[in-house]
Amino acid sequence: TCVWFNPETGIYSSKQKPIHLPTYPYLDVVSLIFSHKHNGVSALIDSSSGFTIPYSKLPHIVKSMASGLHEIGISQGDVVSILLPNTIYFPIIYLCILSIGAIFTAINPLSSLPEIQKQLNQCRTSIVFTTVDKVKEIKKMGVDVIAVPETVDSPSNSSEFSCFHKLLSSNPNSAPKPIIKQEDTAAILFSSGTSGPSKGVVMTHRNLIAAVELFVRFEAFQYNYPASENVYLAALPLFHVYGLSLLATGVLSLGTTVVVMRKFSEQEMVKAMDEYRVTHVPVVPPILMSLVRLKKSGHEFPSLKQVSSGAAPAGKALIEEFLRNFPSVDFIQGYGMTETTAVGTRGFNTDTIKYTSIGLLAPNMEAKVVNPISGSSMPPGESGELWLRGPSIMKGYLNNEEATKDAIDKDGWLHTGDVTYFDQDGYIYVLDRLKEIIKYKGFQIAPADLESVLISHPDIADAAITAAPDEIAGEIPVAFVVKRPGSSLSEADVITFVAGKVAPYKKVRKVIFTTSIPKSPAGKILRRKLKETLMSRM
Ligand code: AMP
Repeated sequence: TCVWFNPETGIYSSKQKPIHLPTYPYLDVVSLIFSHKHNGVSALIDSSSGFTIPYSKLPHIVKSMASGLHEIGISQGDVVSILLPNTIYFPIIYLCILSIGAIFTAINPLSSLPEIQKQLNQCRTSIVFTTVDKVKEIKKMGVDVIAVPETVDSPSNSSEFSCFHKLLSSNPNSAPKPIIKQEDTAAILFSSGTSGPSKGVVMTHRNLIAAVELFVRFEAFQYNYPASENVYLAALPLFHVYGLSLLATGVLSLGTTVVVMRKFSEQEMVKAMDEYRVTHVPVVPPILMSLVRLKKSGHEFPSLKQVSSGAAPAGKALIEEFLRNFPSVDFIQGYGMTETTAVGTRGFNTDTIKYTSIGLLAPNMEAKVVNPISGSSMPPGESGELWLRGPSIMKGYLNNEEATKDAIDKDGWLHTGDVTYFDQDGYIYVLDRLKEIIKYKGFQIAPADLESVLISHPDIADAAITAAPDEIAGEIPVAFVVKRPGSSLSEADVITFVAGKVAPYKKVRKVIFTTSIPKSPAGKILRRKLKETLMSRM
C-alpha cells in the first residue's frame, strides 16, 4: 500500500512533506521575497554588458521605482503591462508593480500590433513599459507608454528615457505602502487553456507565493550546496510563466544570481555561461538541443551543475544524448502551466532519477488521473487526463466565467488537458495532449486564434489548424484550408497572409487545401480527425 495514492478517492498526494505556506491574509509576494534572509551578492547581471544589480541595492531600486510609479498616478488595482524582451529591468519593473498592489501583465514582445491591442484592451492597461521602437504605435492605441532603455549604458540624459530614469531615481522613502491581501490579483498572463482563443490567466499574490515556496525554494533546499553560490542563466523569456515564476520571482528570494540574456543565441549562451560561471540553466527542449550541439563541438561547461527542461515534451533520444554528453550534470524535467503558476511536477536530483518522467508531484499539490471517456479515476500504471489541485492554481480566466468553470470544476480541480500516468514510485509521465494548444519551441499557439485570422481572408471559405511534429520546434502549425470557388489562392499566399497578422512564432508553416473541414453536428472542428488526416499524408 502506498500513502501517496488513495484508491478510494482516486486522489494522488505529493510524496513530499507538506510545506507551511504563510497563512496571514495580508501579504504580497514582493514582501515575502525580500523577507527571506540570504547571503547572495549579485542579483541580476546583464550578460552582454556585465552591468550588475547587487542584492544590497535591489529592494532600494524597487522602492524608488514604486514611488516614481505612484507619483505618475499608478495606484493599487491599476494594470501595468510589460511589453519587453528580456532585460535586467524586467524583474525590477515587475516587482515594483506588484509591490504597490498594481496588477502586472506581460505581453510577448514578438506579438503583432493587433495582438498587442487585444491584450491591452482585455486587461484595461493603464500604462505600458516597452522598447523605444514600439512607443509610437502603443500611444496610438490610447495607452500611456514608458520607454525602457535597451542597454544600461543608454545615456541617462537622453530624452526618450527621461521618464524611466526619473522613476529609477525617485525617493524610495515615499513609496506607497498599500494594504495588499494574498487573495488580491497580482498578475495576468495569457494562455488558451484547453480550447478556444487565448485568455487572461488571473493569478493572485497567494498563487505567486505558492510558486516561490513550492517550486523554487523547495527545490533549492534539496541541493547540497548553498543557493547563494548558484548562478542561473535566464535564457528563457521572462514574460512566460516558466521564466517569470522561476527567474523573476522565486530565484530572487534565494540570493541566487540571475544572468539575463537579452536575446537568445548559442554564441551568447556560451559566452555568458563561461564568463559568469553559470551553474543552473532552465531550458525548453530546443535549448537542450543547443547545449548538446555545443558540447559536441568541443565547448566545455565546467561550472554547470543542473539543467532542467520544461514547457514542452523533451524526447527520450534527446535526453539520452544530453546525459551521454553531460555525465556530471544533473538533468531533471519539470511540468507546469500558466494556469498553475508553473507549479506542477519536478524531478529531484537527490532521488532515483527517471529522466523521461516529468518528476514527482510538487509539495502541497494533489492530482487525479481521469479516464476521459468513463470519468473514472485511474490508479498508478494507468493513463488519463491529469487534474491538479493546490494553492498555485489560478483564480480563473479574466472576465470569462464560462471558460473558468470549464477549466476548474466545483471541487477545485484544474483539468489540465494533458494525458499522463503515475508509475508505481509516483513518477509522472506525459503521453499526449487532449487540448488544442500547439507548442512551438515551448510557446503556446491557440489554433482558434489562427483560424479566425484565416477565415478573415476573402478567398477562404473555411479553415482549421492542427499540429505536425517537428524535430526542432516540437510542433508546427498546419492549416487545412477550403478555398472559395474560383480562387487561385496558393500555399505561399496563405502563409504570407497569416504571417502579416501574427507573431512570427505563430506562423502557419504548411497549408493543405481541402474541400471541407471535419466538424461535429454542433459545428465543432473534429481536431483528432484532422490530425489523423494530416498524419496519414506524412
Ligand atoms: P504553458 O501554459 O504555456 O506553460 O503550457 C502548459 C502546457 O505545456 C502543459 O499543459 C503541457 O501540455 C505542456 N508542458 C509543460 N511542461 C511539459 C513537460 N515537461 N513535458 C510535456 N509537456 C509539457
